[in-house]
Amino acid sequence: MSVSVWQQATRQETTYKCDVAVIGAGIIGSYSAYMLAQQGKRVALLESRFPAAGATGRNAGMCLMGAADNYATGVANFGREKARQLWELTRENQSKTSTFVTRFGTPAVKSGSYILAIDKQESDLLAGAYEMMRQDGFEVEYKPTDPFERGFGSAILQPADFGLDPVALVNAFITNSAPQVRLFAPAEVFAIQRGNAGQLVVEARGIQVECDRVALCTNAYSPMISPYFADKIAPVRAQILLTAPLSRRVIDRLAYVNYGYEYFRQLDDGSFLLGGGRSRHRELEVGYDEVATGWLQATLEEMLNQYFPDIVREATIVRRWGGTMGFSVDGLPLAGQLPYVPGTFAPVTRPFVPAGPYLAVETPLDPQPSGIYFAVGFTGHGLGWGMVTADAMLDMLLANASDAGLFDVRRLANKQ
Ligand SMILES: Cc1cc2nc3c(=O)[nH]c(=O)nc-3n(C[C@H](O)[C@H](O)[C@H](O)COP(=O)(O)OP(=O)(O)OC[C@H]3O[C@@H](n4cnc5c(N)ncnc54)[C@H](O)[C@@H]3O)c2cc1C
Repeated sequence: MSVSVWQQATRQETTYKCDVAVIGAGIIGSYSAYMLAQQGKRVALLESRFPAAGATGRNAGMCLMGAADNYATGVANFGREKARQLWELTRENQSKTSTFVTRFGTPAVKSGSYILAIDKQESDLLAGAYEMMRQDGFEVEYKPTDPFERGFGSAILQPADFGLDPVALVNAFITNSAPQVRLFAPAEVFAIQRGNAGQLVVEARGIQVECDRVALCTNAYSPMISPYFADKIAPVRAQILLTAPLSRRVIDRLAYVNYGYEYFRQLDDGSFLLGGGRSRHRELEVGYDEVATGWLQATLEEMLNQYFPDIVREATIVRRWGGTMGFSVDGLPLAGQLPYVPGTFAPVTRPFVPAGPYLAVETPLDPQPSGIYFAVGFTGHGLGWGMVTADAMLDMLLANASDAGLFDVRRLANKQ
């Protein structure tokens, strides 16, 4: 994504003045714009394509509690107390999301979910995870055998997990925040500069926005906006397949399986959605192409054949799609303030290598705070993390909070 000088078409209205420019109209940008409007701010929401064009409009719509594949892994990665705090944040996020879904009346399936084991080893891990979750006060149940009776292992039931329609939710945030929030789409942002009077000037195709603050809600696309993100966020593809509607319910809850790598749910119309398969094709499933690839779709079909042969017999696959997730270097969302105003988009100079060492946070420090804030790097869990991360960003943007708590980007600098 880049914009040539020839493509920089102008509209009649070339400059729009407001308090905050929010860049990216996915779940994070639309929610942030809505919350800013609630605080009386005048907002320009700039989206390069159309609302929910990115990962938000392409996901499985599962709003789950939890940050990693299971609590035991979370405890191993972060330590018991931090894991508890992180899970608590996802629980808070879930309850916020649920409130908005109810307020706007967008579709939701409050069925709960199973975290399912693929084998004996994962079953043992889930038994331990359940015990720790119970001790730490999370509402969960343990099923020692596969509740679906399809050859999986044990399961943890998370009753508050639910399914939603992410596009409907994004559109509801935008509709319910007008006219305080004005959507510009398509309007690809290609430069952010500081104006002569100290204001921020956001240049997008067809419109220029002058504002006091910017909120970057561009997840995987962030390294294309500033090289600051090049060693922090990597674009990773995820894919889904969907069958024609089935004549009966084959499962009654959402499910995550195989350490979170695969997930499935049956939609209201009876169609069956299956996603994942990436762990078998890690090197290939990267980058910005939102495509369905033969190798990965074959892996998903293999799984469908093995665990759901009855579905294969009854229904054909009617849709396949891919989307781009923004993976952060340590798997947790990143919020904060850019240390400088990027004059123009710069090329990604130091791509993030997932298994590599942490690089220092760059320091072309501005003499004054940049005023450009961000909430990015959801690592495949933006519906689980989105609102609480955006809130941490907005606390900095609106109330001058000094940091973004557990999401603060500066944690990476300490991990040398
Ligand atoms: C197949 C798949 C399944 C998933 N399933 C789940 C799930 O079940 N549960 C879950 O929690 N998460 C899931 N995720 C992850 C989730 O979708 C993301 O974490 C979440 O949508 C991120 O939201 P966002 O608003 O930060 O980013 P995005 O939705 O990617 O939005 C960023 C927006 O910025 C726009 N943009 C980029 N550059 C510019 C620019 N220069 N100017 C203007 N606009 C720009 C893009 O067009 C895009 O609309 C899944 C992802 C995929 C791909």
